[in-house]
Amino acid sequence: MESGHQIVAIDNLITGHRENVGHLMDRPGFEFMEHDVCEPISIEGTVDRVFHLASLASPIDYLEHPIETLESGSTGTRNMLALARQHKARFLLTSTSECYGDPLEHPQAETYWGNVNPVGLRSCYDESKRYAEALTMAYHRVYGVRTNIARIFNTYGPRMALNDGRVVPAFIDQALKGAPLTVFGDGSQTRSFCFVSDLVEGLLLLSESEERYPVNLGNPKEMSILEFAREIQKRFDGAKGIDYRPLPSDDPKLRRPDISKAMRVLGWQPKVGLSEGLAETIDYFKKLNVTVA
Ligand code: UDP
Repeated sequence: MESGHQIVAIDNLITGHRENVGHLMDRPGFEFMEHDVCEPISIEGTVDRVFHLASLASPIDYLEHPIETLESGSTGTRNMLALARQHKARFLLTSTSECYGDPLEHPQAETYWGNVNPVGLRSCYDESKRYAEALTMAYHRVYGVRTNIARIFNTYGPRMALNDGRVVPAFIDQALKGAPLTVFGDGSQTRSFCFVSDLVEGLLLLSESEERYPVNLGNPKEMSILEFAREIQKRFDGAKGIDYRPLPSDDPKLRRPDISKAMRVLGWQPKVGLSEGLAETIDYFKKLNVTVA
């Protein structure tokens, strides 16, 4: 919107919320369609770019809706590729670090093919995204669609749902309620958290590039989940300790993006550090809590 583009945003609201685009609704050049990408779609007029971000993305959500998750990565991707082909538009797929599964290489570079359990609880997400990548490459090779593939690592920021189950909103929600933080396993598993504005910038740069193969987008600053819990607790007075819970199956032990390709091809790297990003995110959730109360 800020670059002057006209946007059609499509969401079936299975986990999203209309309020997330509430600030855009009245702006000229913005249209919201409540629609499932798994159903065919036609858009009148010119379409220059299709960004296919549609998917359930939180482990608890895709465990609850495994078939919808597989569908949005397969049928949904096919419909969005068909739309791009019909309009001779660029197409960008948001894939995932889950393509690397529980990785045996660390950090993860795009050249690593991954260690995914094809029948595990996470497979609905991992395999649908791996299929989506293959389909995207096929549309490029067969039909010449101008495609890009981003592999997104853990991303956070305002407008996540407090109850979406991912670790950043989960810990903030618990800290706001004065409850102990639920650390799964012993908390030694690692993640690397990227602030949403950095990711958006990376996606826009990628959609300008001629790179057809996947590019990792994420923040390489890695920490254990226990360290992350301490980071959250530092920001709340009277934090209530840790509540250790069982580790979900197939939970990746280590995750850190190798972003040398993004730096080389896009000239991109994250700018927002964890302190700044968390301050903005916590502030957002605090204001939301006040409104809800
Ligand atoms: N996690 C946790 N407590 C929670 C939610 C998540 O310890 O309340 C852990 C989870 O087991 C995983 C990490 O935090 O190791 C990141 O989980 P998330 O669901 O945010 O994303 P994932 O990287 O697993 O897709």
